[in-house]
Amino acid sequence: MVKKALLGFYIVCTLFFVVNFANQLSTKDGATVQYINIGQGDASLITTQSGRHMLIDSGNDDATATSDASIVNFLRNDGVTHIDVATISHYDSDHSGGMRYVAYYFSPDLMILPKPMDADEQSKCNDIISECGSNTKIVYAKQGDDLKIGDNFEADVIWNDPTAAASNDRCIVMQAIAYDNRFLYTGDITTLTEDEMIADLPNDELKSNVVKVAHHGSRFSSSTEFYNVTKPVYAVISVGKNSYGHPTQEAMDRIASSGATILRTDQSGTITFHVDWNGLRRVSPASIPESTYESVAEGAEALPTATPIANDYIYVSVAFANSQKTYYYLADNDNFEIGQKVMVPTSSAPNGVAATVVAVEHYAKENVPYPLDQMKWIMGTAN
Ligand SMILES: [Zn+2]
Repeated sequence: MVKKALLGFYIVCTLFFVVNFANQLSTKDGATVQYINIGQGDASLITTQSGRHMLIDSGNDDATATSDASIVNFLRNDGVTHIDVATISHYDSDHSGGMRYVAYYFSPDLMILPKPMDADEQSKCNDIISECGSNTKIVYAKQGDDLKIGDNFEADVIWNDPTAAASNDRCIVMQAIAYDNRFLYTGDITTLTEDEMIADLPNDELKSNVVKVAHHGSRFSSSTEFYNVTKPVYAVISVGKNSYGHPTQEAMDRIASSGATILRTDQSGTITFHVDWNGLRRVSPASIPESTYESVAEGAEALPTATPIANDYIYVSVAFANSQKTYYYLADNDNFEIGQKVMVPTSSAPNGVAATVVAVEHYAKENVPYPLDQMKWIMGTAN
């Protein structure tokens, strides 16, 4: 009887050791990086070997405890009970909206926020801070901030220009480094910031294994040069149902021509990578959907027309005989179509110059990528 019990104990111990050892080999070694399927918005969770969690962006403000696209739901289903570090790239709702719920339910130890630059950003910032518990240290990000989190993981603020005119270009650009693999988080930056980063930062440090594609695949982001410098193996587009035409074929064409494999959360769901000293491994999707990327034949229409929403800003790109330009237009019910012939008034030709619409994108007022005093074009007026 005693012998049997001892044998049983021995088997249990051996099993425990084998299972534990196998677990350590398969999942406990290394870090996990997830790009969360949060609908139209951004959210990414990094989990270190010892179970520390860093959250970068938090999806929309419909992230209540019951919503499907809820960051709270995702974290709970993923077994997360506490967030160590939380940050948002900028105050646009599709990145910052869920953060007050995260602050409330997951009491982060550290909350890294962009410096609020206007009344709207200040009020969103206050909303997040007011939900933080007394344990949460609140820090305003500065370019050059390096965060050593341990377990072979750190996160660095490699770019932040709080004086940039457009809110998208005021994004915190974060590079997470785990086991020498780099994950670049670009928020919603435009090519303006991409160009500045290439000019001002050591280009070999921009090189990254995975790039979170800027601004959900907007055509005003993801330049060819940026992808020639960052050279990612994977480019992740965090995107859901939207009326902006995201992701645009133009941006995907430029990214794909760098050799990167494009993955989209709207096609693949949450995208998961595992990283350790053996390198980077894609966990999901197991296979890449065939429709992820289709190259557009030369001369084909670059973009579908988007459905206008009243009081959206429509950005219309037109081709003149010798050049191409982008204008914005305050929408009511005007519908632009690719291929449409239009007359565009200019300072030298107030009656208009003939042009053809080549691309249309829609932005809600708070998400416009350029300052609104630039490039205004009022259709139908002669001056
Ligand atoms: Zn966004």
